[in-house]
Amino acid sequence: MSPVCSDQRDSFDEAQTPESGQQRMLDACFLGPYGENDSLLERLMVEFLRDHVHWRRNFHPEDPPAIPTRAAQHPRYQAFEARMRRELHQLSAALKRSVPFHSPRYIGHMVSDLLLPGLAAQMLTLPYNPNNVSEEAAPITVQLEMQVGLQLARMLGWPDDPARPECALGHLTSGGTLANYQALRLALALKAFPLALRAAGVPEIPLPGDDWEAFNLAPEAGIALFVRWQEWLDAQSHAQRRHWSEQAQSQRIEHLGLVEFFARHRDVSVPHVLAPITAHYSWSKGMKMLGLGRDQLRLLPTREMRLDTEALNQVLETCQRKRQPVLMAVAVLGSTEYGTIDPLDEVVRARDQAGRCGLGFSVHVDAAWGGYLGTLFRHPDGRLRTHHEVSQDFRDFPQPEVHAAFAALERVDSVTIDPHKLGYLPYGAGAFVCRNNRAMMLLSEPADYVFHGDDVNDYMARYRRIGQFIPEGSKSGAAAAAVYVVHRVLPLDHANFGLIPRHTVLAAEAFRDCARRFAEEMADVLHVVMPFPPDSNLVCLAMNPRGNHDLGRADAFIQRLLETLRCDPSQPLQVRQFFVSSTTLRRGIVGDTDMMRILHELGIDPATMDGNRGSDRLTILRHTLMNPYLIDNENAISYIERYFQYLSEQVRAL
Ligand SMILES: *Cc1c(COP(=O)(O)O)cnc(C)c1O
Repeated sequence: MSPVCSDQRDSFDEAQTPESGQQRMLDACFLGPYGENDSLLERLMVEFLRDHVHWRRNFHPEDPPAIPTRAAQHPRYQAFEARMRRELHQLSAALKRSVPFHSPRYIGHMVSDLLLPGLAAQMLTLPYNPNNVSEEAAPITVQLEMQVGLQLARMLGWPDDPARPECALGHLTSGGTLANYQALRLALALKAFPLALRAAGVPEIPLPGDDWEAFNLAPEAGIALFVRWQEWLDAQSHAQRRHWSEQAQSQRIEHLGLVEFFARHRDVSVPHVLAPITAHYSWSKGMKMLGLGRDQLRLLPTREMRLDTEALNQVLETCQRKRQPVLMAVAVLGSTEYGTIDPLDEVVRARDQAGRCGLGFSVHVDAAWGGYLGTLFRHPDGRLRTHHEVSQDFRDFPQPEVHAAFAALERVDSVTIDPHKLGYLPYGAGAFVCRNNRAMMLLSEPADYVFHGDDVNDYMARYRRIGQFIPEGSKSGAAAAAVYVVHRVLPLDHANFGLIPRHTVLAAEAFRDCARRFAEEMADVLHVVMPFPPDSNLVCLAMNPRGNHDLGRADAFIQRLLETLRCDPSQPLQVRQFFVSSTTLRRGIVGDTDMMRILHELGIDPATMDGNRGSDRLTILRHTLMNPYLIDNENAISYIERYFQYLSEQVRAL
């Protein structure tokens, strides 16, 4: 598409509604389903590649070229080039069988087109190859990574001014899995540290009276104690500081290992992690990696796929009674399978209540999926938008509980957010953010407790050595640059970045309307049920042919339908009309009440649930509505309508 000539039909000077103005801004955000913005991307790429080359040439212009000017004429050079071209062509050809994430016909998994500013920033940065393990290897992009952390903190409503000692801190990870692992690591370090101080016999600092109390400080109290300890150390002579640092270090859980640590502290046991049953399997991985053991991950029941806080409170009561420590409670903001949002406000309340009763633990929010929905709830000046303000933009969204959950983000201890999901950035970009940076020093490698002053320079100086605080070593500075540039071009508030998630939630509302119509039109042949009211932009549909009462047969029906809606690497891409994903409803996950209700609505006899075929699950269609062009204003019929037309043809043909 030429950059100057737009569609003949609408000239830009006619009076525009704010609505259409926003659409025009979105037009420039992505490469587009048809590659509409190809020339824009191409110009950027050529411009910045040349720019990079000039940078090389201007480094020491007096250095003569190392590769001779005639090199390209040598047969060996040409043979190499030929080999390279052949392989690149083969790669490029093979990649044509990739999944068409960019297309509005793709409503499967949590991925879509890439934001142009991020893609361009990533490609621009790659030839400089910065390594964000430390500022020595990445003088610019480490700084940008720290800024990304502050940008995300602001979106969450956390202190984002590095001059404040309790400023938040965020860093990038390879993905949500590692960010969740980092949350576990930090929580454990903070929880176990007071016991190390007690065991080290540190004088002059008021410490908890016994190990149980020390292991169960509320997170705020744990951080306060750690800060107190740092200040005390700071005031000691050099020799004393070294002595006491080493004493405390030798007693830490990270130093002793879980076995020795708990052998020395018989009053406390390996803590539990509480998470809803909808939690992502990265939590299971994290428990194993940290050595806490999968058995310590306690999965709590849900109601309509949101964490059941009554069950949480009961478990906490039992833990208190049985003196079972809790490391953290995980709440999910946008569950991977259903997009549902846990009642964070109630989880935070439970934490505060338990903390007052001497059962301290932290609250981590797994917002790998839903994090960027937070932009919908922020004014450009950083204030939280009221429920009324947010709901003006939508028909149903947000439910009051959903608004309360986003409002409660301000009070949680740490959050996982994936820029490579709803941030529309290339893979390799997850993020961990903690509300108060001060505990992060506990993760430092080598152990380093002392820092002086609390000004901005100090914060940046400390965390520019980010490699010391994270599980990874070398990592992509280009990824950090990409996230930073996206957050700068589209600040994380409702009027800027928020336009994109807003579009996805509107698409989900339109999708639900179409699904309702589909259900009516197909009523003669099919039961169509939305198992849970979707909280955001993920919509699942359960189906059963009318007249069938058997769970196994219903499941087989959906499996057959899915065969036409799934990627099939053995066939050309174009034979597929649409791509969706699936998930299963299982009694053990959904819970008895919800499972019975759904089966009833589908006309399935619950007695067939554990029948002789052993079928105990129902496959359902899962639609991730994150493509920015799902609601098509240019063409007469939207992709969502087309999808349902296609679905009805398929169902009638089965
Ligand atoms: C995707 C996801 C993860 C894992 O993130 P990766 O980036 O795939 O490692 C964790 N939690 C939730 C809720 C997710 O949706």
